[in-house]
Amino acid sequence: MQRYDSRKMSYLPDNFYNLKADLPELPPPPLNPATRRPLRPEELEPVFTRGFIQQEISTERFIRIPDEVLEVYSRYRPTPLVHASALRKYLNTPARIFYKYEGVSPAGSHKTNTALMQAYLAGQEGVETLTTETGAGQWGSALAYACSQFGIKARVFMVRASYRQKPGRRVMIELFGGQVTESPGPDTEAGRKYYRENPDHPGSLGIAISEAVESAVSLPATRYSLGSVLDAVLLHQTIIGLEARKQCREFGFEPQLIIGCVGGGSNFAGLSFPFIGQKLQEKNGTRFLAVEPEACPSLTSGQLQYDHGDTVGLTPLLYMHSLGKDFVPPPIHAGGLRYHGMAPLISHLVKMGLVEARAYSQKQIFAAAELFLRTEGILPAPESAHAIAAVIDEALEAKKSGKEINILFNLSGHGFLDINAYDQAANGNGQD
Ligand SMILES: *Cc1c(COP(=O)(O)O)cnc(C)c1O
Repeated sequence: MQRYDSRKMSYLPDNFYNLKADLPELPPPPLNPATRRPLRPEELEPVFTRGFIQQEISTERFIRIPDEVLEVYSRYRPTPLVHASALRKYLNTPARIFYKYEGVSPAGSHKTNTALMQAYLAGQEGVETLTTETGAGQWGSALAYACSQFGIKARVFMVRASYRQKPGRRVMIELFGGQVTESPGPDTEAGRKYYRENPDHPGSLGIAISEAVESAVSLPATRYSLGSVLDAVLLHQTIIGLEARKQCREFGFEPQLIIGCVGGGSNFAGLSFPFIGQKLQEKNGTRFLAVEPEACPSLTSGQLQYDHGDTVGLTPLLYMHSLGKDFVPPPIHAGGLRYHGMAPLISHLVKMGLVEARAYSQKQIFAAAELFLRTEGILPAPESAHAIAAVIDEALEAKKSGKEINILFNLSGHGFLDINAYDQAANGNGQD
């Protein structure tokens, strides 16, 4: 079943894993916002590629990764599974700590995994341009890179405040050949509404989504691409957990606690779903912990309800933990976690009691990030630092109880382009 790639002669999974095949019951379906009836797949066709929609609704257990995509994955995958022995030593804990490091991808985070699959599917259907939104630019840079690999144009609507204050990832998007548009801007109906009033409008992720969807629907050979939340995006990320399962076996251990940060839920899902599938089969005692910011606590404080994915209210209604589509999270440094909702699949697993959730303050996560840098030597993305904060607490808990637990977490990205955030946090300007 395994294909060995020619570049590194190392193991890569052949398929993505679809947890929906193994769930005793599925989450409630997305609804058409106008009729409140379950959405028909065809209704999504003006927005997403057909291949993506098929994967979104599929309940097949395994979905094959095309050779063309595997070839690109092989340039940075399998990503390392690392024993955080220095952190363990510092904490003086009996817990063994391991992390899966997604920061080695070209865009510096796990987002490259789904971006490549989505760009490939677009290319297969003759789509010429993919549009999307980006806040701090992590998703935009991943999609721009992926599009460059499959001969597709990337048009990225970037929240103006980030565009002006955080040029690092805008430059990356442009270097990868993507086109960046400040949002809100004059090119779309949605953008003009705000732009005419104030050409310096700081923008928001919600407005940028509306602009990206509108331009996908109205321009020829153009589709929209989303970097988290949807079932298919979570599916693509399972390559992380499939590799990790194999690597754990090679290391000779089974993780008993799996931890990841959650914005829309994709990196957490990617690492955990293959292990959750295993838990459903074996009825083992593995725990799963999703970590979010106190400033945007959709899982720990939000309501499980039907809500829109965007602020304007154009997208389908998703059944998810949400703080309400009008909730505007404060401008914390972990931009990737500033989302009012949560992936319906993660929400469902929390409701089923399979996934626990916890929130941390910005102060706590920056302290955790600094400790990680000083022990393991990697500057984590502020998003990933949420997972690290929980890992440290759990490792200290294990020390109290003397338990030799194996903890595995997802280091979803590096923080080299977040260096200003670290500077501000260190100099007392941390927002909390
Ligand atoms: C975008 C991002 C996240 C949050 O998104 P999820 O879909 O919840 O994974 C987490 N970490 C990094 C590094 C990101 O770029």
